Amino acid sequence: MKRFTCQCGQNLYFDNSRCLACGNSVGFDPELGDIVNLDPAKQRQCQNGTDYNVCNWLVPQQEKKTLCTSCRITHITPDLSHEQNIRRWRILEIAKRRLLYNLMQFNLSIAEDAAHGQPALSFQFLEDQGSNPLVAETFVRTGHASGVITINVTEADDVLREANRLMMNEAYRTPLGHCRHESGHYYYDRLIRGTDLEGVFRALFGDPDIDYEQALQDYYANPPSHRPDDGYISNYAQSHPLEDWAECWAHYLHINDTLETAASWGVMTLKRDHDDADQWLREWLELSVILNEMNRSMGLADAYPFTLTGAINAKLRFINSVVGQ
Ligand SMILES: [Zn+2]
Ligand SMILES: [Zn+2]
Ligand SMILES: [Zn+2]
Repeated sequence: MKRFTCQCGQNLYFDNSRCLACGNSVGFDPELGDIVNLDPAKQRQCQNGTDYNVCNWLVPQQEKKTLCTSCRITHITPDLSHEQNIRRWRILEIAKRRLLYNLMQFNLSIAEDAAHGQPALSFQFLEDQGSNPLVAETFVRTGHASGVITINVTEADDVLREANRLMMNEAYRTPLGHCRHESGHYYYDRLIRGTDLEGVFRALFGDPDIDYEQALQDYYANPPSHRPDDGYISNYAQSHPLEDWAECWAHYLHINDTLETAASWGVMTLKRDHDDADQWLREWLELSVILNEMNRSMGLADAYPFTLTGAINAKLRFINSVVGQ
């Protein structure tokens, strides 16, 4: 993420809607890709910002739609008469907007491509009876199907999410991680499935047509232990080749966003051009050690509790080459 500043010089976060130094209203202009001071002649706040304080993106003043380009692609939100759900929704939208920022940077389209049968990307945030006994759904699985990313709203609850992380033996579990992972499934359909790249995919990740439901059932019935030397970035990456891809895709976005943040705040100077994936991986190795040491200095868990081995790096290089096309 790049560094944002107010007109007054104060640093701003990507999620700020007001500058705490000068008090001016600010917001993210998705066309400019920047946080700007709100100019009522040009823009207004997204209605989800004014009504619920869940969004800080701006809408051009001449635009008839009241929602910003991010909020327009959330098609279902949980029952907002429960205050708890507005809090959950806010957390999930924050993660979703950061994903959208990443995708914009790589010019990865989220629009429908009817000529190639590709749906637009959209989101639904759903409750199930685990968090609300009054809803019909007994269980909502976070996942992707036909352009729709579904996220169980309890992923915004720290205690539940952490309990699930431990139960599933995962090193990392966050709303942003979910958004990035599920977008990997969407872009597999757009960039790999049925293209010439499928052969390389099979060589690196395995057969994408292995029975998905059966593979996941087998994985949850008997989760394998995780050894990075086996070529998998995470435990869950072992469940199915498409999950391996989605896990690596998420890491590709984690790494790029975090490197950009480090460069924009002067933590390190990046030498990488897009084609030099080896340099990019070296820079990430250096930064991830710094990150982990900084977290340890604060008594926190490692920010990047993963080991990248040769086979994993080959998968990340492939994703880099696909995204660059
Ligand atoms: Zn300011
Ligand atoms: Zn919005
Ligand atoms: Zn997945």
